[in-house]
Amino acid sequence: MRSFKVVIVGAGPAGIACALELLRGGHNDILVIEKYAFPRYKCCAGYITSKTFDTYKALGLDPAECGYSFINDFRLFRKGRERQQIDNKFLYTSKTIDRVDLDDAFFRLARSSGIRIEEKTEAVAVDPDNKLLTVRDPAGNDSQISFDFLVFADGTGGISAALQKKRKVKRRNIALQLIFKSELQDGIEIHFGASKRGYVWVSSYGGVTNVGMTDLFKPGVNYMELFEKFMRSRGLIGKNEGLEDLEQIRKMKAAFTPIGIRKPVVGDNIYFVGDTLGACDPLTLSGLRYGLKSGSAAARSILSGSPNPLKKYAFALRVKFALMAALQRVFYIRPVQFLVFNVGTKVFGGVVRWAFNKFLVSK
Ligand SMILES: Cc1cc2nc3c(=O)[nH]c(=O)nc-3n(C[C@H](O)[C@H](O)[C@H](O)COP(=O)(O)OP(=O)(O)OC[C@H]3O[C@@H](n4cnc5c(N)ncnc54)[C@H](O)[C@@H]3O)c2cc1C
Repeated sequence: MRSFKVVIVGAGPAGIACALELLRGGHNDILVIEKYAFPRYKCCAGYITSKTFDTYKALGLDPAECGYSFINDFRLFRKGRERQQIDNKFLYTSKTIDRVDLDDAFFRLARSSGIRIEEKTEAVAVDPDNKLLTVRDPAGNDSQISFDFLVFADGTGGISAALQKKRKVKRRNIALQLIFKSELQDGIEIHFGASKRGYVWVSSYGGVTNVGMTDLFKPGVNYMELFEKFMRSRGLIGKNEGLEDLEQIRKMKAAFTPIGIRKPVVGDNIYFVGDTLGACDPLTLSGLRYGLKSGSAAARSILSGSPNPLKKYAFALRVKFALMAALQRVFYIRPVQFLVFNVGTKVFGGVVRWAFNKFLVSK
């Protein structure tokens, strides 16, 4: 049986950040296992804030080398009408409009640093008492790996979700996304009023557009219909290559994002980072920075032999995200929307720009 000091499940941003930080701290008895082969698709708008940009840089990856730069044309809309121009100082967009290149570059950085990563290998079961993880290799054969520490960085749909099942998931966001070739000018549009407690982004860069809708998930709501309605009202259906008819829209991807921080440590040697910890801002959906930071915090915990660094970081996120969730409840109330978009943007445009940058985009 193979045995490693640390096994990390998932080679997304959180898992790779953890592996790189461990390596930096002198640990190289690490195995990362990843279900897919890189480059792999992850349903994500791929926006990164200045702080996320710096976090990647601190971990050794320059997002500018993955086609990331500022788009200056950044506008806010409500109910189809433009309300406010934003002086974009914080939000970077990728030329590939999603995260494929960024994740691939991060993965390759880890591999070239000497970290062992096994692709097309899936974690299928864990036995915490005996410190054993069962993995399925590309040929479909199962084997067991023994670990001292196990870090779950397997996103929202991984097996760690089952380990944490005892805690009921009360609230979560849904996000739908479609990427297509278009002739829209480079720019970022954020639309309010198309979904009840969320927003729509229309992000165009170099002839590719990414449209995404997020909302506080409510069973029974037909999100596909809301999405279609928005696409029609924005005049996007039938006018863009690859988006001639509704059949194309139905190829869109959807995913949930977590709301609320979960338990960061189970026992004394199983850690949860990234989305599986709940490290995603409930209001903005920004999760990359918190994924990277929680991955690094888990590494510091392992290096120091104490779970406290990750526990402390999880606590700070719990407080921060509770505030953002409260803001989510208030911000989408109709009178507040009226005040912000009908009064605020007209009379105090500078304040709206500042508040938007400060509380939503610069995170
Ligand atoms: C539509 C949408 C738009 C978003 N837009 C943004 C944005 O613009 N900016 C931003 O900062 N955040 C955004 N987010 C949030 C962001 O995508 C997540 O917070 C981030 O991906 C979390 O990183 P992670 O490493 O925890 O998980 P992931 O990126 O999901 O990585 C998990 C990895 O684990 C692997 N895996 C899963 N199960 C197993 C298993 N059993 N065995 C082995 N491997 C496994 C997966 O294949 C995957 O590679 C968005 C989310 C959605 C849904």
